[in-house]
Amino acid sequence: MSHSSHQIERNSLAFAIEKNVDVHTQKCYQCGKCSAGCPVATEMDMPPSYVMRLLQTENQAHDENILQSQSIWLCISCEMCLSRCPMEIDIPSMMDFLRQRSIKQKMVNPKAKNIVAFHKSFLNTIKYTGRLYELGLIIDYKRRSLNMLQDITLAPKMISRGKLHFIPEMIKGTPQISGIFKKTSKKEV
Ligand code: SF4
Ligand code: SF4
Repeated sequence: MSHSSHQIERNSLAFAIEKNVDVHTQKCYQCGKCSAGCPVATEMDMPPSYVMRLLQTENQAHDENILQSQSIWLCISCEMCLSRCPMEIDIPSMMDFLRQRSIKQKMVNPKAKNIVAFHKSFLNTIKYTGRLYELGLIIDYKRRSLNMLQDITLAPKMISRGKLHFIPEMIKGTPQISGIFKKTSKKEV
């Protein structure tokens, strides 16, 4: 296989991905099935197969484009891409790594700031409750708010103004979530 003989640049993002989450970007042969199945690809500035292609170039400017993209924050970890990929490339784990790296290198896309706040609260929720139920709710929130609003940056403001009618229904009986939403909307300014 060509990928095994490929000498990967040690300072590339592809190398960091390989080392941290064991995803081998060179295995991707650009069939496009990940992007075709991704429920948020149309909202993304670079769909998953394109992220893979840019990573393969091991070019610093491309690496920066990825870390500054909105795509890494729009990914809802649904694993549709992974289930479709003929090479079993674990894009969701890779996206998770890219989000962490983007924060660490202070490259978060300004338009994604509110999603970052959600990601943080969402990780806290898992830490706090250890239950998948809430995780599902927040993923669902993210997906639905994307479809409904098109503009992701509006979502937290609309929640704090009570404009998203599905939210009260969602948080009924889940006080932790309600607290998290409150905290998130406060942090936002
Ligand atoms: S895990 Fe992320 S990239 Fe993969 S299909 Fe789902 S949203 Fe798209
Ligand atoms: S489905 Fe897999 S092989 Fe095909 S483009 Fe996506 S990552 Fe590459």
